[in-house]
Amino acid sequence: MKSFIDEKKIQELLNSAKGQEARVKKIIEKSLSKKRLELSEVATLLNIEDPDLIQEIFNGAKKLKEMVYGKRIVLFAPLYIGNDCTNDCQYCAFRASNKEARRRTLSDPELKKEVETLESKGHKRLILVYGEDPKYDANFIAKTVKLTYATKKDRGEIRRVNINAPPLEVEGFKKVKESGIGTYQIFQETYHQETYKKYHPRGKKSDYLWRLNGLDRAQEAGIDDVGIGALFGLYDWKFEVMGLVAHAIHLEKKYNVGPHTISFPRLQPAQGIKIDSKYLVSDDDFKKLVAILRLAVPYTGMILTARENPKIRKEVIDLGCSQIDAGSRIELGGYTDSGVDQEADRQQFKLGDTRSLDEVMRGLLEDGYIPSFCTSCYRLGRTGEHFMEFAIPGFIHQYCTPNALLTLKEYLEDYSSPKTREVGERAIQKALTKINNGKAKKVIIDRLCRIEKGERDHYI
Ligand code: SAM
Ligand code: SF4
Repeated sequence: MKSFIDEKKIQELLNSAKGQEARVKKIIEKSLSKKRLELSEVATLLNIEDPDLIQEIFNGAKKLKEMVYGKRIVLFAPLYIGNDCTNDCQYCAFRASNKEARRRTLSDPELKKEVETLESKGHKRLILVYGEDPKYDANFIAKTVKLTYATKKDRGEIRRVNINAPPLEVEGFKKVKESGIGTYQIFQETYHQETYKKYHPRGKKSDYLWRLNGLDRAQEAGIDDVGIGALFGLYDWKFEVMGLVAHAIHLEKKYNVGPHTISFPRLQPAQGIKIDSKYLVSDDDFKKLVAILRLAVPYTGMILTARENPKIRKEVIDLGCSQIDAGSRIELGGYTDSGVDQEADRQQFKLGDTRSLDEVMRGLLEDGYIPSFCTSCYRLGRTGEHFMEFAIPGFIHQYCTPNALLTLKEYLEDYSSPKTREVGERAIQKALTKINNGKAKKVIIDRLCRIEKGERDHYI
């Protein structure tokens, strides 16, 4: 196993890219032509301090986002399956040395109940989250995925199950793929080896390369839909952005397709953890890093989680995010027991946005977005390389917006509060007026009517 992260080169690029303000406009233009940026170009953007140029970076990111992803924001919820863990990540409340943590693994009936609760709120897309423990092996993960898909309540069903779990062997990934997963996410946490060693002193996760090459093994097992991420706050944020882009370039070169998503969680307070890292990322730098990532990898989905508070989420979504979680509970069994305040000994870290799904939906609609539960691409095989083919001619507007409208309509019919329904119906009408292709518009209106009459699961 080899590292494709060349720390020396990253550092040299970051050092030598200072004072290159004159290149910024050209780099933004390249990105707006939907070309992935090179590391040297990313380094230039990362070194910009001039407020006017930073504003140009923000404007470029917003424009690119609108071009590639339109107004839709995909919604999902995390579902924690088990918090037993043999690792000792120094930032996580589930770490083995945290004796205060209440350990729990959902039984099948408990998992079913959590899924039913999520379905009855309107969720269609979940990400299942696991600690690292021998009992959470590939068979266990596959079993929980199948049970999640098989659990249906009233009109509710989960149509896409993503995974956030430790890296497996190729054979294990194959087994998990067979269960019908969407994305397999593994965060490298930090791409800086020395820092990695400091924060992961024990357990299987202490092996930097095993984790770094995890998604290569996933690809070899046929999982062409993978998610990368870094935990911002452990090391220099500029280095981590370079690491993420280097990871994306590596996957793109080797497998012809980059990561499907990038996540950029910021370190949050967690039980028994004093955050004294000098690398904590300020709100201003956070906005910069999101905008630069957006420009660097135009076709990669970007996930903003409920770790961030509603105000920051509102500002950052605009800079390039395509997916957010909503109505999230990260305590084990937290959806079934909802109503209880966040409990430190049951959750991995503290959430910044604890609004309900309905409130988040309404907020998005009021801000001009179209919340989407679309699962069409994955179900029609538009993933990996195929996704890239479809994405390039701008098919997002052709497929994503209609599918967003259809899944929003389902939500409004089945789950929404009267207030959200009102804003949502208005948003659908407004979006329809913007569709110029008469034939396409007719198809969408016909499907919306059919949903109103009780049909479900229409997608294009
Ligand atoms: N145990 C698996 C692993 O480590 O890959 C599953 C993921 S863990 C439950 C999900 C992610 O949460 C981690 O990869 C890490 O980036 C993030 N995380 C852990 N502690 C955190 C904290 N205190 N604040 C924010 N994010 C945290
Ligand atoms: Fe375990 Fe994952 Fe938490 Fe590390 S981040 S202690 S591996 S649950």
